[in-house]
Amino acid sequence: MSTHPETRRRSRRQETRLWRVPVVRVERVTPRMARVTVRHESLAGLAGAGTDQNVMLYFFPDDTELPEPLTLESVRARWSQVRPLTRTYTIRRHDPATNEVDFDLVLHGDAGPASAWASRVRPGDEMIFVGPSPAYQPDPAADWYLLAGDETALPAITAILGALPSEKRAIAYVEVADAAEEQPIPGVIWLHRDGVPAGESTALVDAVRAAELPEGLPEVWMAGERTSMLAVRAHLLDERGYPRQRVRPTTYWRLGESGN
Ligand SMILES: Cc1cc2nc3c(=O)[nH]c(=O)nc-3n(C[C@H](O)[C@H](O)[C@H](O)COP(=O)(O)OP(=O)(O)OC[C@H]3O[C@@H](n4cnc5c(N)ncnc54)[C@H](O)[C@@H]3O)c2cc1C
Repeated sequence: MSTHPETRRRSRRQETRLWRVPVVRVERVTPRMARVTVRHESLAGLAGAGTDQNVMLYFFPDDTELPEPLTLESVRARWSQVRPLTRTYTIRRHDPATNEVDFDLVLHGDAGPASAWASRVRPGDEMIFVGPSPAYQPDPAADWYLLAGDETALPAITAILGALPSEKRAIAYVEVADAAEEQPIPGVIWLHRDGVPAGESTALVDAVRAAELPEGLPEVWMAGERTSMLAVRAHLLDERGYPRQRVRPTTYWRLGESGN
């Protein structure tokens, strides 16, 4: 098996299809994180794509007459007339025994359709999504693992932490608004923006720069706001000398820009 990260990323491609399922539970995990649980027998067919598997939520305008049956093909056939807004979210938990899936959505205000939906969604509402997308598979040959991100990356980081070889060291830095946003996730080092708006803080890069990191060659997985990702990446490549192919940032969102 190749250990090249790109190859490993693609090696578990899942069948992509559209899911139209009811919301059965909505909780506030923290003041600014909504956990939306869907449950439906069709979710028995949602094959686990591993660690940071994600889906694209589809938001249709309220008055849209949706094609029946609603499938990826029927939606695409009308794409030029009815185009949903799409936003990407990570599967936080998938329980094949109960056919439940959890999504954790950051509540960052009403400017974003996904955040606005998450702040209002109620049990009985419908959720439409397409996926899952193939996920990161940690390289077992890495000496240790460095994970970094903001709260949008928490579902992925939680899943990745659970999938890493237990004998290897893993360090995870997660930037959140403040102490109230911390979750009981073993192994996470929490960083607080403390009043600085999301996307404008240097807390993540400051912490990684100041860290005494282990010897050896890590594999680095990180995701969050674009500028923050670029800053951490530049530090890891230019100041720590990690090889480019070992440092894989993903832009999850861009300050001041809608969509992803
Ligand atoms: C593979 C992948 C997996 C992801 N998984 C998750 C996940 O599990 N949970 C999750 O919450 N997010 C996740 N995200 C990030 C999420 O898709 C983006 O934050 C998305 O932009 C939110 O859409 P929106 O409609 O709420 O806001 P948008 O319409 O996209 O943006 C509106 C405004 O809000 C700003 N904005 C967007 N996101 C944030 C934020 N988090 N904090 C502050 N301001 C923001 C934008 O810069 C813009 O100015 C993931 C992204 C990717 C690519």
